Amino acid sequence: MNKLFLIFFSMVFLSQFTIAQTTFHVNKVIAHRGAWKTQGLPQNSLASLKEAVRLGCEGSEFDVWMTADEVLVVNHDHDFQGIDIETSTYEQLLTKKLPNGEKIPTLEEYLREGMKQSGTKLILEFKPSRISVERSERVGELSVKTVQKLGAEKWVDYITFSYEGGKKAIATDPKANVAYLSGDKTPAQLKEDGFFGFDYNIRVLRNKPEWIAQAQHLGLTTNAWTVNNEEDMKWLLELKVDFITTDEPEKLFEILSKQ
Ligand code: MG
Repeated sequence: MNKLFLIFFSMVFLSQFTIAQTTFHVNKVIAHRGAWKTQGLPQNSLASLKEAVRLGCEGSEFDVWMTADEVLVVNHDHDFQGIDIETSTYEQLLTKKLPNGEKIPTLEEYLREGMKQSGTKLILEFKPSRISVERSERVGELSVKTVQKLGAEKWVDYITFSYEGGKKAIATDPKANVAYLSGDKTPAQLKEDGFFGFDYNIRVLRNKPEWIAQAQHLGLTTNAWTVNNEEDMKWLLELKVDFITTDEPEKLFEILSKQ
C-alpha cells in the first residue's frame, strides 16, 4: 500500500516538475507563417501554428497588422481577402473567412493558442504601416503591450522591417527580443540600437556573409528568410546561424537529422 502511494506521489510530483520546466526546442527551425505547405493549411492560421507546434519547430513566425480601430490581427498581406486591414474595422474583417473556415485571428487569440504549449516560440512580425511611421511605431508598441498583458514574454521574439517600429518596441520593453529584417543595417548598428539580432534575406547574407560572424561576435542572434532550398540551408548550418526561417520545415528537419 505504502509502495503504491509512493509511486503515485512520485508520478504527480514528476508531472508537475515537467510542466514547470522551460522546454522550448533548440533546433533552429522557424516555420514561416506557420507550417502550412505540406498540409495545405492557410498561412498565418491557428491551424498552421498548431502544425508548427506538432512538428516541434523551435519557432513559428506570423505577421501582425493593426485595423483602423486598433485591433491587432494576424495576416500576411495588407489586405484580408480583399479588405484593406489598416483602413477597415475589425468588425468588417469578420465578414470574410480563411479557406479552412477560421476567422482572421487576433494577436491575442494567436498568443493564447501558442501559450498552450512551451516547445515552440512565437516569432511575432509587426508590419510597417502603409499609412504612417507613427502607425508603424504604434503597432510595435501595442504588440509589446499585448504580449505583456497576456504574460507571453517568454514565448515571444519580435521581428520587423520597420527600424522605427523596432526601436519603439525595444523602448516599450527593453527586455524584448527584437530582430531587424530589412538587411540595410550593419550588426554594429543593430547592437548600438539595442536589437536582439538580425533576420535577413538569404540573398543579403550571401552577399555579406561576414555579417554573420560579426553579429556572432557582438552577441547578436542570426536568422535568415525565406530559406527553402537545401544548399542554402546547409550553408547557413555550416556558418552556425541561430535560426533558419523556412516554408519547408520538414525539409530542414530532415537535413538536421543527417548531421
Ligand atoms: Mg513575416
